[in-house]
Amino acid sequence: MEGEHLQQAIAGKSDLTEKCPLKYLPPFLFDEHNCEWFDKARPIKWVDPEAHGKYDMVAIGGGAGGLVTCIVARALGAGKVAMIERSLMGGDCLNSGCVPSKAFLKSANVVHTITKQAQKFGVKIDGAVTVDFGAVMARMRKIRADIAEADSPQRMAETFGIDMFLGHAEFTGAN
Ligand SMILES: Cc1cc2nc3c(=O)[nH]c(=O)nc-3n(C[C@H](O)[C@H](O)[C@H](O)COP(=O)(O)OP(=O)(O)OC[C@H]3O[C@@H](n4cnc5c(N)ncnc54)[C@H](O)[C@@H]3O)c2cc1C
Repeated sequence: MEGEHLQQAIAGKSDLTEKCPLKYLPPFLFDEHNCEWFDKARPIKWVDPEAHGKYDMVAIGGGAGGLVTCIVARALGAGKVAMIERSLMGGDCLNSGCVPSKAFLKSANVVHTITKQAQKFGVKIDGAVTVDFGAVMARMRKIRADIAEADSPQRMAETFGIDMFLGHAEFTGAN
């Protein structure tokens, strides 16, 4: 789902398209799992904190790199740490990379076991084994929604004391 369709689909659910240029947003399919995922990865009710004073560290991007860097910086004693994410918290890993791909691999692994190894385990399959790709996708979306809490702005702020800003970051000057 792209462009105007995306804007219509998330109207009232998220302010994402107001805060970030459309060209940076991935296509979506919205169902109950994706709404839950979106509510954690990009909560509409999120209110950015007041930025004041200098930060010890600012991460541009809330993907695996930004998340780990900020959490470790806080654990090592950095007093003021901020993270700015313009799209979805969790970056590629949660939203389109590691997590979705591992969900698909598990389904593929089950098919392989049934079709290639059933006999080895004393299992006889009578009839065709088919894959419901819609169900495979729905399972992936549920897993992603369940895991999204771990990368959420709430968790970063409340558990790790990171100032979380949802929006597009730009350097405005040399300093
Ligand atoms: C299909 C697939 C499967 C993968 N499987 C694995 C796996 O099993 N194990 C593994 O370790 N790795 C895996 N990876 C790799 C992993 O996803 C990446 O290494 C990881 O996402 C990189 O994290 P990152 O924070 O550097 O970048 P990203 O995840 O790309 O995050 C960058 C974030 O910065 C934000 N951003 C960018 N510019 C701005 C800006 N100007 N202002 C605000 N925000 C901005 C983006 O919106 C994004 O959220 C996989 C990748 C793919 C594609």
